[in-house]
Formats: sequence, C-alpha cells, structure tokens
Amino acid sequence: MILKTNTTIAIQCSQCGELEFHALSLFAFSGQGRKDLLCGCGAGLMSIASRNRQQFNASYVCAYCGETHYLKLNRQVIWGKEALPLTCPDVVASVGYIGPKQKVTQACHEREKSIGELAVELGYEEEFENPEVMLRILDHLHRLAKKSDLGCACGNQQLTFELLQDRIELYCECCEAVGVIYADSADNVHQIEGMNSLYLEENKTWLINNPLRGQHISKANKEEKKWR
Ligand SMILES: [Zn+2]
Ligand SMILES: [Zn+2]
Ligand SMILES: [Zn+2]
Repeated sequence: MILKTNTTIAIQCSQCGELEFHALSLFAFSGQGRKDLLCGCGAGLMSIASRNRQQFNASYVCAYCGETHYLKLNRQVIWGKEALPLTCPDVVASVGYIGPKQKVTQACHEREKSIGELAVELGYEEEFENPEVMLRILDHLHRLAKKSDLGCACGNQQLTFELLQDRIELYCECCEAVGVIYADSADNVHQIEGMNSLYLEENKTWLINNPLRGQHISKANKEEKKWR
C-alpha cells in the first residue's frame, strides 16, 4: 500500500451522545481544504483542515468535558494502519477513533464499558460502602442489559442508574418506575445474581432486594421530609 485515501472516524456526539461514524476521503481536502463533520442531530462533531494535505488540524467537541480539543496530525496518521484515539485529557478517555474502518469498529466495541468499570475509572469505588458487592451487582446488571433482559414493564429498555453509597437506584424516565437494589452486603449479590431478567413495574417503586431494610429507609425519608 503506497497511498490510502479513505479513513473512518467514529466520535461520540457531545449533544445527543450517539456514536457517529463518518468516512473521510483524502480528496475531500482538494477544494477548500476543510471538512466539517456533523452528527445526525445537527450538532458539529469535528472539523479537519489542511492547506497542503500533509499536515492536518483537527478539532472536536468533547462528549466528556464539553470543551473543544485540538490535534495536529500527519497524513500518515489519519490515513494510516492503526486506530488513533481521540482523547479527552481531563478524564483520560477517548471520545472516538480515526483509522481503518475495521480497527475503529473494534476499538469502539472495546470502549463500550460497563457502569462498574466506569465507576472505578472515575474513582467512585472508594465512595461505596462495599465496593466489591457494588461492582459485582453492576456487573450482573450489565450482563442483563447486554442480553436485553433489563428494563421497565412500560417498554423502556434504557434505565437510568444512580449509584449511591449503599445502593443502586434504577429509574425509568418513560414512566415513574423506580427500582432499588441494596449493595452493601454479600446477601445482596446472591439475590441479584439469581435473577435472569429484571423489569421494573410500571409507575411503581420496587425494593428489589432486602425489602425490610428498604422499608426502614423509606420511613426515615418520610420523617425527614416532615421534619423539613
Ligand atoms: Zn448528535
Ligand atoms: Zn474533553
Ligand atoms: Zn417505565
């Protein structure tokens, strides 16, 4: 291979969060020397400019920190053999990749981290009362989500997770369903790992494990509200 003219860019949109794929031809720079990539939602993803088609200035809006990051790249890097990560210096994570289609696709696949891995990466592990239990439960929820066995009875499969010190709260944003999973003792793990699917009950709050303790907590909350 002497000259490769097509490359693939995958980048997460800072506005809608979708991972967008774009093909980029070296010939796109023959005219005005600038290429703007837009997301399907209309937001700008990335701009690449070059005067001489040897050196390229890339800028992208970062899905993690919201800032614009800049990169100076040689032609051989953009139209090269490896997937180059588009990183965010703030969180040391990549919002996307540039490179051969196959390598970019593979890198994106590996990038899809579970919430547990993210929590560790972001340093939340120490905040949990029992990190081991929390991470094992998150792992199991991740497995259920991958098999499409996690969701809400109303049909929504994208639950919102809230991680607290001793529990995980699952919310359905399509209805009012809430699920509470305690994650502070080993018993909590066995209960959750025994579940092959988990669907919240539409418009209801469900204390998924350890209901006794759950009632105690919700009572405490009520008293707290009254007191205010
Ligand atoms: Zn978008
Ligand atoms: Zn950033
Ligand atoms: Zn729902």
